[in-house]
Amino acid sequence: MNKLVLASLISVTSLIVTPQLFAKTKPFAIAIHGGAGTIEKSRFTPEQEKAYRAKLKEAVETGYKVLERGGESLDAITAAINVLENSPYFNAGRGAVYTYDGEHELDASIMDGRNRQAGAISGVKHIENPINLARLVMEQSVHVMLSGQGAEKFAENNGVPLVENNLFDTENRYKSLLKAKEKLDKAKQTSKDYQAAHSALPANFKMGTVGAVALDKNGNLAAGTSTGGMTAKRFGRVGDAPIIGAGTFAENESCAVSATGHGEYFIRYTVAADVCARVKYQGKTISQAGDEVINGVLKPIGGTGGVIIVDREGNMSMPFNTSGMYRASKSNTQATYVGIFNGE
Ligand code: ASP
Repeated sequence: MNKLVLASLISVTSLIVTPQLFAKTKPFAIAIHGGAGTIEKSRFTPEQEKAYRAKLKEAVETGYKVLERGGESLDAITAAINVLENSPYFNAGRGAVYTYDGEHELDASIMDGRNRQAGAISGVKHIENPINLARLVMEQSVHVMLSGQGAEKFAENNGVPLVENNLFDTENRYKSLLKAKEKLDKAKQTSKDYQAAHSALPANFKMGTVGAVALDKNGNLAAGTSTGGMTAKRFGRVGDAPIIGAGTFAENESCAVSATGHGEYFIRYTVAADVCARVKYQGKTISQAGDEVINGVLKPIGGTGGVIIVDREGNMSMPFNTSGMYRASKSNTQATYVGIFNGE
């Protein structure tokens, strides 16, 4: 074959194949977290670490499969969060921490980046998968947040079965409650101030939580967070997880964020919304914005925790200022990543 014929053959072939070759694949991505805190490698047996990693992998891949087959980001995050809520390892659903009175009070929220629709529930005691009820509030009610008995009445009216509170009992969390109460009572004897005593609790008693953020093939972002809150919490305490803008935020123009950490700080610093505002108004990348808020704003004032973030291009960032954060991510261009400790 002479050179001229070969050249024209190549150009004809490339004309035919070019559109497929260069058709841009729409990005899709998901990141999840299972809480931040004093999570150190030395505290895990190899078997425990393996089991945590396997559960995080299962959760992120469950959500990823929804995105891969063209499903919505809202469905992907709900599916991923359900895996974590159904596991006793994480402080949400089955592994929820205990209140001071020995019960479980669950909080959750979800946000749709397309239209800023949002749903949240707080202080529910009988809902097996709180993220699903938050979503129901978003889709079936005219409100954004329902709390306590009202939220459970709404659940019943919408056919969601109520479960016994002891469904969420686990031995480990109970031991943590006893330890926390012991510390609280001791501290109270000296300071006589419950709030001060509570502030003095080690960071681990204030942490846990699960969450997910995702971008689907249609370019829609979503974020969700679900938690049992803080060990030994009292007086109907509500953290940041069910508060839109604090623990959860999503808008297609900027990013989607789910937070974990000491909720009181995350509420006062509107952490999730602040990350997205920096992206939207200051043109920051999500990793710049996340780092600024987690390490620049929160760390100096003692606000411990982290966030997971995804943007419209499918970039993901998972900054934290604690020794560890259970986390995982996967996208159409990135293989499954699972991390627990700093850098690992
Ligand atoms: N942010 C949650 C709360 O304060 C706890 C956590 O993320 O670990 O309720």
